[in-house]
Amino acid sequence: MMKFKKNVLLAPYTTFKIGGKARHFFVAKTAEDVEKALFQAREKNIPFFVLGGGSNLLVSDKGFKGLVLKIENRKLKIGNPVVYAAAGVNLPRLVRETTKRGLGGLEWAGGLPGTVGGAVRGNAGAFGGETKDSILFVDCLDEKGKRRKLSRGKCQFSYRSSIFKKKNWIVLGASFKMKQGNAKEFMNIAKDHINYRKQRNPLEFPNAGSIFKNCDLKEVPKKLHEFVKPAVKTDPFPVVPTAFLISEAGLKHFCIGKAEVSEKHPNFLINRGGASAKDVQQLIKKIKNTIKKKFSITLEEEVQFVK
Ligand SMILES: Cc1cc2nc3c(=O)[nH]c(=O)nc-3n(C[C@H](O)[C@H](O)[C@H](O)COP(=O)(O)OP(=O)(O)OC[C@H]3O[C@@H](n4cnc5c(N)ncnc54)[C@H](O)[C@@H]3O)c2cc1C
Repeated sequence: MMKFKKNVLLAPYTTFKIGGKARHFFVAKTAEDVEKALFQAREKNIPFFVLGGGSNLLVSDKGFKGLVLKIENRKLKIGNPVVYAAAGVNLPRLVRETTKRGLGGLEWAGGLPGTVGGAVRGNAGAFGGETKDSILFVDCLDEKGKRRKLSRGKCQFSYRSSIFKKKNWIVLGASFKMKQGNAKEFMNIAKDHINYRKQRNPLEFPNAGSIFKNCDLKEVPKKLHEFVKPAVKTDPFPVVPTAFLISEAGLKHFCIGKAEVSEKHPNFLINRGGASAKDVQQLIKKIKNTIKKKFSITLEEEVQFVK
């Protein structure tokens, strides 16, 4: 029988520093802990939510009336060329430990917060790279709690999505196939990305990264193509950065309560101290409505709501 903690405040477990209490809370240090805690939750009909690094979340002010299962299995096995990382391994650590050994493939993730589990589930990506690029296979639990091992081809990876996201499966760990190369070069690439983020992202305030996905150029009305052309980038396919649209809509600095559209990176909302989830949700609504009205584009949230 696993002992769940009761009424644990979730805000400190998120990079946004927002959110109420979890009715039950459990930290899983091993894959077996995850399985046992889930079994127990299912037996008692308790809804559950899996928490990684909390870097892509907006937790409701009312918290979560179920079990928050925080995965902290940090097992890391570094081989050459195959590296196995448990779901709770922090991505910055994985990038550090691989690049310094001359194992390439994850340099693009320099400065990307969160855990391996969160990155695999959301196929996190940046600077032209995506988590899926170096995945060999993923260990997971399906909706019935059955262990599965999926090769990359079976993971249904797409832009910020995967089978784990679509089916709510739990990532236990992943194998990455690395490529041997020059450690200094890999470390420098990762360092450049970290520095770029420091300059361009509002890291001085609590935030949850990009609130919205970027817009697939194919979904952007033809009449806007000339206007958005200078901003279009290929990451991983031609997209219009949502930050550009929010900025062009004149929403930089727009505030609701203590939540504000970042001036540095307008697709980031920042918590200026004491912002509520309600403030953020209203701000999200305001941005979506404005962008729809101005550009006929429907923005889609990247951040996950927990309620
Ligand atoms: C400053 C900043 C910059 C960012 N930049 C980027 C970027 O460039 N590119 C990008 O893609 N993202 C970016 N993000 C968002 C975030 O870092 C990624 O989405 C990250 O992969 C989330 O991982 P996490 O462990 O923090 O997940 P969490 O925030 O804890 O959870 C996110 C979702 O994943 C689920 N989840 C977590 N662990 C597991 C697991 N083991 N199994 C199944 N589901 C799980 C949760 O249930 C939740 O639905 C940024 C965030 C911040 C704060």
